Amino acid sequence: MKLATPLTDAGKLYNNYASRLEKLDITKLGDFLYHLPSRYDDYSRIVAIKDIVPGELCTVQGRITEITNTYTRSRKQIQKAAITDDSGTLQVIWFNQPYITKTLKFGDVVSLSGRVQSDGFIPSLSAPDFEVIPTSGHTIHTGRLVPVYPETAGVSSKWLRRQVDKILATSYELNEFLPVEEVEKLHLEPFEKAIREVHFPESLELSEKAKERLGFDELLLLYLANKKRKSEWQQKARGQQFAIEKFQKEIDTFWESLPFEPTNAQRKAIHEIMTDLASVHVMNRLLEGDVGSGKTVVAAIALFLAKLNGFQSVLMAPTEILANQHYQTIKKLLEPLGVRVDLATGSRKTERVIASKAKQSNKNEIAASQAPYNDNSFDMLIGTHAVLSDNINYEKLGLVVIDEQHRFGVEQRSIIRSKGNNPHVLTMTATPIPRTVALTLYGDLDLSILDEMPKGRREIKTWLVPQQKRESGYKWIAEQIAKGDQAFIVCPFIEESETLTTIKAASSEFERLQRSVFPKLKLGLLHGKMRAKEKDAVLEEFRTGKIDILVATPVVEVGIDIPNATIILIEAADRFGLSQLHQLRGRVGRGDKQSYCLLFTESNNPQTTQRLKSMEHIHNGAELAELDLKMRGAGELYGTAQHGRKWLKIASFGDTKLLELAKQEAAILFPQLGRLPFLAQKVEEISTKKVSPD
Ligand code: ADP
Ligand code: MG
Repeated sequence: MKLATPLTDAGKLYNNYASRLEKLDITKLGDFLYHLPSRYDDYSRIVAIKDIVPGELCTVQGRITEITNTYTRSRKQIQKAAITDDSGTLQVIWFNQPYITKTLKFGDVVSLSGRVQSDGFIPSLSAPDFEVIPTSGHTIHTGRLVPVYPETAGVSSKWLRRQVDKILATSYELNEFLPVEEVEKLHLEPFEKAIREVHFPESLELSEKAKERLGFDELLLLYLANKKRKSEWQQKARGQQFAIEKFQKEIDTFWESLPFEPTNAQRKAIHEIMTDLASVHVMNRLLEGDVGSGKTVVAAIALFLAKLNGFQSVLMAPTEILANQHYQTIKKLLEPLGVRVDLATGSRKTERVIASKAKQSNKNEIAASQAPYNDNSFDMLIGTHAVLSDNINYEKLGLVVIDEQHRFGVEQRSIIRSKGNNPHVLTMTATPIPRTVALTLYGDLDLSILDEMPKGRREIKTWLVPQQKRESGYKWIAEQIAKGDQAFIVCPFIEESETLTTIKAASSEFERLQRSVFPKLKLGLLHGKMRAKEKDAVLEEFRTGKIDILVATPVVEVGIDIPNATIILIEAADRFGLSQLHQLRGRVGRGDKQSYCLLFTESNNPQTTQRLKSMEHIHNGAELAELDLKMRGAGELYGTAQHGRKWLKIASFGDTKLLELAKQEAAILFPQLGRLPFLAQKVEEISTKKVSPD
């Protein structure tokens, strides 16, 4: 059987286990090999029975000279055995495992590993791991470094070990897929050795070497897959070349209409984008910038250029609130310059379609009954994924801007790209991904970074508020509000996505705050499951100052822009990553007033406190992201939405040396892929798998 065989086609046993194994990310036979041990039990010391020492971890090997199943007075079952080697006999006991007397028989030669007990003067083994020694002498559960795997209900390490061993013994597909010279040059373990040693290592040192090789492979393949996608994208996509210089006057007018000067970082990003738009290749660029760094105007310039060049454009946002907000902002910026901006959200879509169909039916009823229709009633469409609707057929789509890109799936991105004729694509994210991580995950994109905040921004004063100061925290907020400020309160975050439990918690927290903490103030509640109209209404009340405090769930709308809100209180801050806290903190400090962030925590754990304290003095998203990476691993960078989803199973984004090595090697090997069929096949496999964090 092949490593690529899905478990569901791999016989009855695996088929029965398939759903359980899926929880461990094992869906085909080969995945067992990449389900790496989380640790090893060191059972490598094999000792003669006469030499065993109570308290020590060891392995004994001998013949079973007695084995029985007995009942205690409380009707519990006990299995007892005697094991004899050349030096003596040892008593072994198990509890409530009657199957043992069926698997192990008198006369079997067995290997037993465990900690030696001493009952008075007689040492014994209690509930040791065991196996009958096969004729080959090759043991997997005892007598060596024994792999311990991440488990799940009904799937034990022992069971996993057996599968791995079986596959390693029978697979013909463990060939080296890198050129041997490269493997030697890089001082890496050969592939087959690495995959064997990572499961059944001779020493911990060798298991580390094995992991290094496999981690290297993982990164290398990721880089190669990105390079492949990028080159395919470039070959396929003959871009719509935009004229830029011709429109210098219009661009100047745009700048003059702004109440501020662009930052140098914005200038640089705009320059990079313009260069892309003017080239023959299709743009595929990621604009990464901390919250408040001013990505919107950068996008607006690109959108404006599309219109000037006679193209339609689309700006896609992950939520209705954000789409609405962008619509308002962009309209204000660009409508005076003659750009027709329209909105398409779930709730707007039907109206649009009906209206537009009616419009068409006057002209041609048959065509109208057969959606899609062509729409040239707008230059720029802003919306949620509703912009992807089949009912909207772009007349001449030249540019797509995707905001908060990690919330969109690969499919949605490729749908939008397929609309129109190879539109340029600009994706924007406020998720402060360290550069190395961004380059690894999004290697198929070009990267522009806004690493500079607009001038005059004040740092958001941040305080960690311990449990005992909760009341004074509330009191301080009430005082500030009396002076005319507004506040967000972000509710404790309970589950990764907006579930009923989260919403219930938010609702009851809202009631508690309104009733017992801020009875004299007007509070509003905002959560993701509210209807778009309700959300808009609440936000509008908050924006216009009718609401003093907006109580919200944490998944609520990363980009909300309410300049008068100057305080954000985050409950149970310890449950968030620093990057997430930074994102939430970015909800305030958007106007020119001094803003504040209060982090509430019930935790007294010094490590937690120290981690959260770093929010008080670090105000740079990228720096916090790096810190997160060091302290909690990359899984936390992207917040809760991707909970449990890992991009790297073996290597880590923190391993800069290996990242660099893999990157260099990818550059060397990419041009040779045509000559390296095994490697090309691996790259193909992971290219078709999702690798970006969507
Ligand atoms: P984000 O990158 O988080 O999307 P926005 O584009 O929403 O940030 O910008 C945040 C705020 O900063 C907006 O009110 C915007 O008008 C303002 N802004 C953008 N660029 C500058 C600048 N160069 N100088 C001053 N204010 C700016
Ligand atoms: Mg934004």
